[in-house]
Amino acid sequence: MNDKVVLVTGGASGIGAATVAAFAEAGAVVGVCDIDEAGAERVASAHEGAFAVPMDVTDAAGVKAAVDDVASAHGGIDVLANVAGWDRVMPFVETDPEFWDRVIAINYRGILATCHAVIPHMVARGGGAIVNTASEAGRNGSSGEAVYSGTKGGVIAFSKALAREVARHGIRVNVVAPGLVDTPLLQGMISEGHGRLMEAIVKATPIRRFGRPEEVAEAILFLASDRASFITGQTLGVSGGLVMG
Ligand code: NAD
Repeated sequence: MNDKVVLVTGGASGIGAATVAAFAEAGAVVGVCDIDEAGAERVASAHEGAFAVPMDVTDAAGVKAAVDDVASAHGGIDVLANVAGWDRVMPFVETDPEFWDRVIAINYRGILATCHAVIPHMVARGGGAIVNTASEAGRNGSSGEAVYSGTKGGVIAFSKALAREVARHGIRVNVVAPGLVDTPLLQGMISEGHGRLMEAIVKATPIRRFGRPEEVAEAILFLASDRASFITGQTLGVSGGLVMG
């Protein structure tokens, strides 16, 4: 990753922050993109070559402006790791259209916005790699996360279609599908009273524990690297075997 220019959305926390660390350690120049500007500054200041990029992925025009700024300051963009995401656990019948819009805006449209902004820069550079973060919920469904599961399934299908479109430009597009990973998002769900649901998911996980953010970050780094040069359109489960195949 020496001197590669990398953008990580959701880089201020959890899996995104671990992804920033993994790329920075591998020698990349990393833009820590997040709506949480203070968090992005904090993570960026902990890694040589990292810098904060204030970004709300639901604001497509703002995403484009931020991406264009990074590309002109650093001579292009090599890797986009989309990690930003959000959910709240509740039965589907208790959700409302405002909630649907928020979940879709962050988890699905956010990925459309960043890919749309970054791909022209990768085409100009003659290649690149995109890794989108879905969830095993997007392959198997997750009780209490119906809308979220739909957005993550959408991320997987979108990524496959995009992989087909952009392969001719030397751009690879892959997906990581985490299971339960110990992050502030997961801890928030537990503190909101969903600990028993999480315990049940751990029981259904052959490797019976939560994942660590670094374990997902390693998978993202691999898929973004030249070691994965013949891999595109794939979904890699990082979930202790929760979903197989
Ligand atoms: P987290 O809450 O710790 O971090 C998410 C980050 O995304 C935060 O820094 C937040 O500020 C940022 N973010 C939220 N909305 C944003 C927006 N509009 N624009 C820019 N940034 C925004 O969560 P996490 O657990 O690290 O999750 C990271 C990704 O992994 C998400 O896509 C999530 O859906 C996925 N995932 C997590 C788990 C898990 O168990 N933790 C499981 C499956 C999938």
